[in-house]
Parts: sequence; structure tokens; C-alpha cells
Amino acid sequence: MPETMWTPWRLGYIVGERPEGCLFCLKSKEPREKDKENYILHRGRSGFIMLNSFPYTNGHLMVAPYAHLASPELLEPEVLHEFIDLTGLSVALLRQAIGPEGFNIGMNVADVAGAGVADHLHMHVVPRWKGDTNFMSVLADIRLIPEALNSTYERLAEALRQTLK
Ligand SMILES: [Zn+2]
Repeated sequence: MPETMWTPWRLGYIVGERPEGCLFCLKSKEPREKDKENYILHRGRSGFIMLNSFPYTNGHLMVAPYAHLASPELLEPEVLHEFIDLTGLSVALLRQAIGPEGFNIGMNVADVAGAGVADHLHMHVVPRWKGDTNFMSVLADIRLIPEALNSTYERLAEALRQTLK
């Protein structure tokens, strides 16, 4: 059972309460001063990294291009390249900040595949620990507590500062 916990279609369910319009466009178009409030961790040239407010595990990050496009083959080569670079950076920051033992990394393309936000491509980077299925039953109750998200955000932001130094 724990081995099969990764069920990408559940992510759509967990992303659940979505705002009107596209989450990724809404958040990325807001002023940078609001990045912390919006859990945007890092902005690249063509894409950005944000913390999932409805995490699958603690530290669940999402990488998205700024461009509102639904599928990877639609991205310009440089955008696709940075999308992958930002995925790698997300893994590095999570390793440094919260020391996971493994990761699930992936994209759900289109509703039928379980995408929570189907028309704006995004990569999920989900840190994993042995026994985190137990943690998840706890997290299911606490995941809306802002302190937990803020504390993870701060640790990741510190890891980013050290990485970009
Ligand atoms: Zn969008």
C-alpha cells in the first residue's frame, strides 16, 4: 500500500478548491512583493517555482512556465529547458531544506490524466520519506494551517539564498 501511494490523479482532488481563472497565471502576474504571500519561491526568466498550498507531502513544489500553455510540446525550447532546470533546482532546494529521502516528479497533462489545473502545464515535485503515508494522514488535517506552509517556505527560501550566493 505505501509503495503505491503515488496516485497522480489524486493530486487533482487535493488541489481541489481552485480560484476562478488560472492559479499559475493569477499568482505569477501579481507583484513580486506578494510572492511570499503567494508562496512563490523563485522566479526564473520564463518560469517559476511555487509551494503547493494543498500539499501532497510537506514541501510539495510546483514548477510552471509563465506562458499559459497546456502541454510540453507547446513550449519554446528555451522555456522547456528552463522548466527542467527549475525542476532540478526544486529538487536541490528540497534536499537542502528538508532532507527528503526520495521524490515523485511528474506532470498530469489534461483533465483525464488528473491535472488539477488542466490548461497550464506544471511539474509536481513531491518530496518523500519512508513512512510518509503516516505523515500524510496527519498532514491531511493540518495542511491548511499557514504556519506549516510558512515555515517550509522560509526554509526553502534560505536554501535558495545559499544556492544563489
Ligand atoms: Zn495559466
